Amino acid sequence: MDQLDELLQPHLDTVLARNPGEQEFHQAVREVLESLGPVVRRHPDYLHQAVIERICEPERQLIFRVPWVDDQGRVQINRAFRVEFNSALGPYKGGLRFHPSVYLGIVKFLGFEQVFKNALTGMPIGGGKGGSDFDPKGRSDAEVMRFCQSLMTELYRHLGEHTDVPAGDIGVGGREIGYLFGQYKRITNRYESGVLTGKGLAYGGSQVRTEATGYGTVFFTEEMLATRGTSLSGRRVVVSGSGNVAIYAAQKAAALGAHVVACSDSSGYVIDEDGLDVDLLRQVKEVDRGRVSDYAAQRPRAEFVTGGRVWDVACEVALPCATQNELDDAAARRLVEQGVVAVAEGANMPCTPDAVRVFQEAGVLFAPGKAANAGGVATSALEMQQNASRDSWGFAETEEKLRRIMVGVHERCAHAADDYGLPGNYVAGANISSFLQVAESMLALGV
Ligand code: GLU
Repeated sequence: MDQLDELLQPHLDTVLARNPGEQEFHQAVREVLESLGPVVRRHPDYLHQAVIERICEPERQLIFRVPWVDDQGRVQINRAFRVEFNSALGPYKGGLRFHPSVYLGIVKFLGFEQVFKNALTGMPIGGGKGGSDFDPKGRSDAEVMRFCQSLMTELYRHLGEHTDVPAGDIGVGGREIGYLFGQYKRITNRYESGVLTGKGLAYGGSQVRTEATGYGTVFFTEEMLATRGTSLSGRRVVVSGSGNVAIYAAQKAAALGAHVVACSDSSGYVIDEDGLDVDLLRQVKEVDRGRVSDYAAQRPRAEFVTGGRVWDVACEVALPCATQNELDDAAARRLVEQGVVAVAEGANMPCTPDAVRVFQEAGVLFAPGKAANAGGVATSALEMQQNASRDSWGFAETEEKLRRIMVGVHERCAHAADDYGLPGNYVAGANISSFLQVAESMLALGV
């Protein structure tokens, strides 16, 4: 990773001072600004126009109370957020995360990343993110429904297909989107399909949306490997996590001939030398809402390691698909020692800055999340297109559109990296390409 250009230091200092105590947001801002030295040297006007300060300040930040009644009849209170970060390219677009770790700093980091990720897709979507510290673990369907309804009772007034379009993220899947959409429709008396994405196929959802983030991460990985004349075929792959992103990354990697041997959850990891049985993993995680230890118990040669780190498992391709800062420099060094050739972030910012540096210095192909996992939001934009035209497309057609979008994301990163004399640096390429598009649009639209 590059050092910060001295021209940008005072601008970073201003942004950090305006947002005290938001460590993840600071990390995400610094990571982008570290790539922008050559850009502001080529376009000094950006600094005169305060583009850095403008792009780092959300257009609107909402914080609200979510009261709901649990199954025992007790009133519970959670806090929810929606950060409408940037609308230069289109309506605010980005998921909602339900997890006890959610606070304003996490939502701002995710919203900031989303602005650049969405630009990289080449589609007309701005960036935003939301969420709540609500913990869905152990909650009944009825409790999740009442929580979602209460959250939407406040949030609906800020949404609209041309204004702000949420989707899922950690802790928010098809079930939650259904309850949220139902409440939006009830309150507004409008069947406004394009106001939320990740909907069920029966009521306006898109084929491939569930699979899209994982599939897209694998398509991006294939593009990176192709630049070195190789592919996933026959490669040993480890994914972290076992949610939506991990499951479908594993499925697509296996379909392209890779041998996917491990995945994880917060209790530990499973190693299965026969290759992960993705259908069983999906049954355990998505239908039974179980743990990876339940998966291991049903496979003859699988081993469950309690509390261990999945990055101790040797592999040639690592796909971190769990959560932010899950892969540190020690894990990165271990992966390098064991012969990793490519790493693509299926999650948002799963590698620490030190881990990224280790990969880059070792010459490992490294794809940042804002490029590698852009397939999820891109397919959300395809869902919006179908909703706007009251149409629905088949699986193969939609998957092919996703694949082409990921080829485009890869091209944009590679082109910007080449243009700035940093060939093969996808971190710089992703940050520069997306920053240029958003900055140019913001300047065109005036202050
Ligand atoms: N939460 C996903 C992301 O991090 C998807 C957002 C969306 O589909 O709007 O990009």
